[in-house]
Amino acid sequence: MTFRQGGRLDTSGVSGGGRGGRRGIAVGGGIGGLAVILIALVLGVDPGQLGLDTGPTGAQGQGSDSAQQFQSHINQCDLPQANTDTICRIVATTESLEDVWTTQLPDQVGMRWVQPRTTVFSGAVDTGCGAASSDIGPFYCPAGQTVYIDPSFFDSVLVGQLGGPPSGAAQMYVVAHEFGHHLQTVLGDIRRSQQDPQGPSSGAVRVELQADCYAGLWAHYATSTPAPDGGPPLLESLTPQDVDAIVRTAEAIGDDHIQRTGGGRVDPRSWTHGSSEMRRQWFLTGYEQGSVQACDTFRTQL
Ligand SMILES: [Zn+2]
Repeated sequence: MTFRQGGRLDTSGVSGGGRGGRRGIAVGGGIGGLAVILIALVLGVDPGQLGLDTGPTGAQGQGSDSAQQFQSHINQCDLPQANTDTICRIVATTESLEDVWTTQLPDQVGMRWVQPRTTVFSGAVDTGCGAASSDIGPFYCPAGQTVYIDPSFFDSVLVGQLGGPPSGAAQMYVVAHEFGHHLQTVLGDIRRSQQDPQGPSSGAVRVELQADCYAGLWAHYATSTPAPDGGPPLLESLTPQDVDAIVRTAEAIGDDHIQRTGGGRVDPRSWTHGSSEMRRQWFLTGYEQGSVQACDTFRTQL
């Protein structure tokens, strides 16, 4: 993936976040070891899963210092840095997503896109859905219409624990997936996740696969959607190697792969996000077809 070398990057939609100066918060949760970590490895959570009572152990509130550090890092990001720096890549990806959805949502659904906020944090963060630890992975909070990302997730969990490829494009897919949950909130589909939270063809899995499909839709248009000033697209290229890295990432975060990596047996009844094969397939559906309608995971046999 390559962002273009020149042009303006609007960093105003992304903030540094933390836990308001409270440090070393104790989080509850009695499940230990790898099970805790792997439960946390899913992308995006049901807001009901948030909160310190149910959160995994070991999270440390980093306080407002790290929020300020993230904020100054974000403020100095420009487009060329998005090619090499993870935090700047998150910022640039949110802007690319805004460009694509600002065009596609009115064209395809007849609605205006309202950009969600994005917060970059480390360790733990206060959200409109309660306090959350980064152990749950990147997530979206519908109540605050905000995407939360601890950038250390990419190296330590996605690559380190789940064996996904080290890839900037894979990081962008994760951000695009979370923005997919924002679109579901706007369209009203997100609640189907809570109504039917587990199982291989559950509402939860359908919501997650749809977010993968929306991420694919973004990838379909990202290199052809002009910048808001009419200039060339922010994202100059997304190569076949990038798409391959995204597909392998989608497979790495499939519920069956996560269960196998955790040393457990594969039990579809507990799935919340879908298998590796399902995630791969739905990302590719969005990528190949570029159609919101093609992403209707609720009217399909799973
Ligand atoms: Zn998700």
